[in-house]
Amino acid sequence: MIFDYLVVGAGLAGSVLAERLASQRNKKILIVEKRTHIGGNAYDHYNNDGILVHKYGPHIFHTNSLQVFEYLSQFTEWRPYQHRVLANVDGQLVPIPINLDTINTLYGMNLNSFQLEQFFASVAERKECIRTSEDIVVSKVGRELYEKFFRNYTRKQWGLDPSELDATVTARVPTRTNQDHRYFTDKYQAMPLYGYTQMFEKMLRHENINVMLNTDYYEVERSIPYREMIYTGPIDEYFDFRFGRLPYRSLEFEFKTVNTPVALPAPVVNYPNDYEYTRVTEFKYLTGQEHAKTSLMYEYPCGVGDPYYPVPRPENSERYKKYKACDLQILQHGSGGSASPYGVQ
Ligand SMILES: Cc1cc2nc3c(=O)[nH]c(=O)nc-3n(C[C@H](O)[C@H](O)[C@H](O)COP(=O)(O)OP(=O)(O)OC[C@H]3O[C@@H](n4cnc5c(N)ncnc54)[C@H](O)[C@@H]3O)c2cc1C
Repeated sequence: MIFDYLVVGAGLAGSVLAERLASQRNKKILIVEKRTHIGGNAYDHYNNDGILVHKYGPHIFHTNSLQVFEYLSQFTEWRPYQHRVLANVDGQLVPIPINLDTINTLYGMNLNSFQLEQFFASVAERKECIRTSEDIVVSKVGRELYEKFFRNYTRKQWGLDPSELDATVTARVPTRTNQDHRYFTDKYQAMPLYGYTQMFEKMLRHENINVMLNTDYYEVERSIPYREMIYTGPIDEYFDFRFGRLPYRSLEFEFKTVNTPVALPAPVVNYPNDYEYTRVTEFKYLTGQEHAKTSLMYEYPCGVGDPYYPVPRPENSERYKKYKACDLQILQHGSGGSASPYGVQ
């Protein structure tokens, strides 16, 4: 038998494409996944104490697209959830993204939103052109808040100073003048009621879909007959690193079960300045699980390991563009019945 599609990777990209092609086009699919489980980085599981945890860091579902929300709703019910994060700064726990309460708590003030706007305007540094992550923050909230909230966190997370990173890194974190404590403001925010893995299982439960776990594509590519291929792994690896490696940041996760029902004052606490870890997550806030114990996860950024975050620097985007151009060539010209990969990152 020849598979219509060989899908490499059972994460969100691979699973959604497999489901669509199987259910909408009646295609026969084989997914190969090198890990021991489906779900990619969104995989969750019950730990030895019976607590649902996210193996690769906290994953919160948020989107402004009704289409995406409705699509996934075929495979899961939802638990309403709005994510909140506190930052431990100067010994105080304050909301992040920075908002009215953050500033009033930090400086013992009682500003209103209008006064906070004036405060930001008075401390912001004027920048001729915004190039780096440092530029974007100091031009909005000034140097002191940049030092307290962003500089050291970014250094830990990326192993680089914000002045060495593209503006995109900190541009994602908004600054608010109201009291909105939510981390995300998307229209649809929720958590899969029974976890992500169960959602993936339902998505892949189709007679046209076969899944091979513990299988690295590079070990089986010649032995599996297929017409088209969808590759969702790292693009530089696919092209044998011919333009060099795309630098990624990775994470080490340390899990601790604590003998108390609740341990943290919020789902996530960030530590911009203290300790080696960047943040601690308490999963029960996310999952809503009731349990006598709770599980905490500490994240330690590092330079080796699974590729999680592409390092955003101009030279890396240039390298990525070269790989993307190879990708497009394959898409445009095809390869006559044999492998026709396209990276979905
Ligand atoms: C710590 C962390 C927190 C995150 N939090 C959020 C969040 O809160 N909300 C959110 O929307 N997004 C979040 N993300 C991003 C989210 O994880 C990704 O957007 C999503 O997982 C991408 O799905 P994917 O299928 O493209 O990749 P992946 O999930 O990485 O799946 C790719 C799969 O391909 C497999 N693979 C790779 N190479 C091969 C090979 N040669 N052979 C076989 N299999 C292979 C891998 O093992 C992997 O399982 C977070 C990411 C991280 C790292």
